[in-house]
Amino acid sequence: MGFLDTAKTIKDVAQGLASLDAKRSLLEAYDAALALNSKNQELEVRVRELEEALRFKEKVRFDRNALWAEEDPHPYCNSCWEVKENAVHLTQSTSDPEYYMCPSCNKSYNTAVPRKFVLPEPAPLDRDPFQY
Ligand SMILES: [Zn+2]
Repeated sequence: MGFLDTAKTIKDVAQGLASLDAKRSLLEAYDAALALNSKNQELEVRVRELEEALRFKEKVRFDRNALWAEEDPHPYCNSCWEVKENAVHLTQSTSDPEYYMCPSCNKSYNTAVPRKFVLPEPAPLDRDPFQY
C-alpha cells in the first residue's frame, strides 16, 4: 500500500468517527502527512539536482575562458555555472568559430588560445662584450 492509499484510508476512518475531537485530530495528522510527503518530494528533486551538479563539476575544466566537459566539443557558460549552478551550452558564432554567446545570460566568450608575448631575439653583437 502506497502513501496515497494509506492517506485515503486515514481520511475515510476520520470521516467515520463519531467523536468530533478524534475526527479533527486524525484529519490534522492526515494534513501533516500530506505536507511531509510533499516536502519529501521537493527534497528528492533537490537531491537529484545536486547529484547532477556534482557529476557536472567533476567532468568539466576551465580553459580558454569557458568550461569544457570531457568528450563534449561545445563549451559551457562559466558565468551561469558560477552564479546559478546552471550548465548552459554556449552558442557558437557563425562568423567566428572562436566566438560564443550564452543564450541564458548573453555573456560573450572568445575561446581563442591567447598568443604568448615573445621578446624579439637580440641583434648579434659585432664585438666581444667583455673587451673594452
Ligand atoms: Zn550564461
